[in-house]
Amino acid sequence: MTPSSAVLRRGPQLSTDDLDFLFEASHQALAPGAREAAQAVDEVEQRLGASDEGARATIAELGKRGFFRHFAPERGAIDLRALCLTREALAWASGGADSLFAVQGLGSYPIHAHGTAEQKRRWLAPALAGATVAAFGLTEPEAGTDVASMRTTARREGEGWVLDGEKVYISNAPVADHVVLFANADPAAGRKGITAFVVHRGAPGLEVSGQIPMVADHSIGALALRGCRVPDEQRLGAVGEGFAIAMGTLDNFRVTVGAAACGMARRALQEATHRAVVRHQFGKAIAEQQQIQAYLADMSAELDAARLLVFRAALLRDRGASITQEAAVAKMFATEAAQRIIDRALQIHGGLGVVRGVAVERLYREIRALRIYEGTTEIQRVVIATRLLQAERARQKEEGT
Ligand SMILES: Cc1cc2nc3c(=O)[nH]c(=O)nc-3n(C[C@H](O)[C@H](O)[C@H](O)COP(=O)(O)OP(=O)(O)OC[C@H]3O[C@@H](n4cnc5c(N)ncnc54)[C@H](O)[C@@H]3O)c2cc1C
Repeated sequence: MTPSSAVLRRGPQLSTDDLDFLFEASHQALAPGAREAAQAVDEVEQRLGASDEGARATIAELGKRGFFRHFAPERGAIDLRALCLTREALAWASGGADSLFAVQGLGSYPIHAHGTAEQKRRWLAPALAGATVAAFGLTEPEAGTDVASMRTTARREGEGWVLDGEKVYISNAPVADHVVLFANADPAAGRKGITAFVVHRGAPGLEVSGQIPMVADHSIGALALRGCRVPDEQRLGAVGEGFAIAMGTLDNFRVTVGAAACGMARRALQEATHRAVVRHQFGKAIAEQQQIQAYLADMSAELDAARLLVFRAALLRDRGASITQEAAVAKMFATEAAQRIIDRALQIHGGLGVVRGVAVERLYREIRALRIYEGTTEIQRVVIATRLLQAERARQKEEGT
């Protein structure tokens, strides 16, 4: 039996299992469903692979299980701990399914937060049910980290808008029914001109170029807008409000990237621990070698630290705090730590670790993008250091030093 099949049968351990002091009863109640969903998306993946059909089936499965309801709470703010627990479980099973889930959120939440009743009826309701697929179109070939420098324009014409430009690395693009897309309606005003739109598949002038081959399976593509016509009813929020809508959405989801990293790292640790016990060399299990034990101990400690940072940020946010600093720390630490943990897990597998299709090999590829999207590690460092230094300067000014 491969480590994967034994570990898969057990299912993911979730942070609710041993960090129960961070959770409410509603989160404890969510955990079994998240475990079942992880098994279900794995089955969909085994059956349909990383195809468009598989992506749609995964979205439908998660919609049927009610997981997208977290993107549009009936009352109050998003339950960040619920989102983190869900991503922790899904990423444990499949990076592809986790990404489909998260991007469905990026393309739904802004409509929940800023949409009209008609926009919610038309775009949000079917996405929450898993009947349609959502995407989030911000990045451009020349505007990645510096998103405010986007070149896509929105020009008023008659009752509607004409969009021109290009978007790249748009997750879910190959299968998306709508994209929450950002364009500048007043380039002279810089970020204050950025405006959000809901652009639907089949909109005149929208070209979707299919799957960009990535290091790991991930539904992703590019969009070209060539005189793309969008009625004013598909503008989301006010003209010029787009930058705030985009940043507000990413602020809600950044911590969940850390949670996904924890899910992947947890899977790697479970796989490595299993392998260390069953693999014998020199007449005994490699688990008896102190170097392997040291690896496992370091991996376990780093994973604990990552989960505590992720759920600290989520808990504070759920209590209503602003978490710019905590979210940056959690995202940076968890994604970087997960990369180290997975690398160690692969090392413990020896040659088996680099065989295509073995769980740790897949995780080794899947974790990489998490250090890049929704704010690179470098940008999280900028956020953390800027706040740290601002606070120190303010303190020195106050003390008159
Ligand atoms: C798998 C995947 C999925 C994605 N999905 C989406 C999606 O659904 N929608 C979407 O809109 N976008 C998406 N993206 C795009 C993603 O958000 C960008 O890749 C990311 O913001 C970085 O932009 P870039 O790739 O252009 O890198 P660049 O901006 O070119 O950065 C290159 C390097 O320079 C560093 N750098 C840049 N500026 C600074 C600075 N000020 N200080 C220090 N270092 C700096 C970066 O950290 C990085 O290391 C996705 C990307 C990936 C990989």
